[in-house]
Amino acid sequence: MNTKLLTTEDIAEAAAILQRGGLVAIPTETVYGLAADAFNSQAVASIFAAKGRPQDNPLIVHISDLSQLADLAETVPPAAMLLAERFWPGPLTMVLPRKASVSDTVTAGLDSVAIRFPAHPVARAVIAAAQTPLAAPSANLSGSPSPTTAQHVMNDLAGRIEAVLDGGASDVGLESTVLALTGEKPVLLRPGGVTYEQLTEVLGEVIIDKAVRQQIDDTERVSSPGMKYRHYAPKAPVQAICGSGDATAAYIRSAAAQTEGRVCVICYDEAVGTFGEAECIAYGSEADPAALAHNLFDALRRADEADADRIFVQCPSDDGIGLAVANRIKKAAGFDVVMLG
Ligand code: AMP
Ligand code: MG
Repeated sequence: MNTKLLTTEDIAEAAAILQRGGLVAIPTETVYGLAADAFNSQAVASIFAAKGRPQDNPLIVHISDLSQLADLAETVPPAAMLLAERFWPGPLTMVLPRKASVSDTVTAGLDSVAIRFPAHPVARAVIAAAQTPLAAPSANLSGSPSPTTAQHVMNDLAGRIEAVLDGGASDVGLESTVLALTGEKPVLLRPGGVTYEQLTEVLGEVIIDKAVRQQIDDTERVSSPGMKYRHYAPKAPVQAICGSGDATAAYIRSAAAQTEGRVCVICYDEAVGTFGEAECIAYGSEADPAALAHNLFDALRRADEADADRIFVQCPSDDGIGLAVANRIKKAAGFDVVMLG
């Protein structure tokens, strides 16, 4: 299959491909999504095939109008309405009790469905033109870092999907915040662009799922199946170094000096050039965690392209969007984490 590169002028063509059951990668403010008509089970099944995604990892359904909630969710609790008012459209996914009409292929057989109303004008225009909610996981091969540009998508999926719609680089750069509203208390399953602090402002107490900060072993039941997979990972082993900028840089200098082969350091702008022979990939200032979020996945892909044998990453603290950045770094590292002071 020859994968077409579409532009923002081609919304109608993207919608037509989706309506006949094809796959189109679309830009969103979080990362690029691999979209299919959420009510076409065969189309949804082909997402799993194109990505090599495990069947038990459910998909997020994207809407462009609040009225579509009623087609997907059996009930919409008051907390969901409050959150929708404050954060939609935006990088927040809510897990709600599902309607029976939502395909098991989308939900991986769970009795809940994950729903997001993206802010990106192109994503919304495509959903509206397709006249159906779109199931869309990140548009990468399963296991590799999520794509934040059309070129990243092409590198992974050219020849496997109908089209990629190029809408420029994704603004946030990390996948959406996933919040479950199916139990007694709201549970943060995956941190993202809407922060834990922002959620607690609206909801009061929010539980942070254990899998956000720790490795979950295969035998444990996870609330969000996607969290048990080693995601976002480049080919070379990654180690996350957490602590102040100065302490992490000093640790990495000494570790790099003792490491054989090609070392890559994904580091703060402030530390560039301080790692001797090792290659530096700067991903933003320590003082600007939003920039770190925006650049992280591109930095992980560049470390791969540089044929690194070993990758060290300076990992920010858990405040604000830092929680999401640190979560993705730790997952890329398979939770090989060094905590300093
Ligand atoms: P991705 O589409 O690649 O961003 O991954 C979607 C994430 O949402 C995965 O981590 C899934 O486990 C999670 N997710 C999707 N649907 C549900 C659901 N019904 N319950 C819990 N987590 C979900
Ligand atoms: Mg993904």
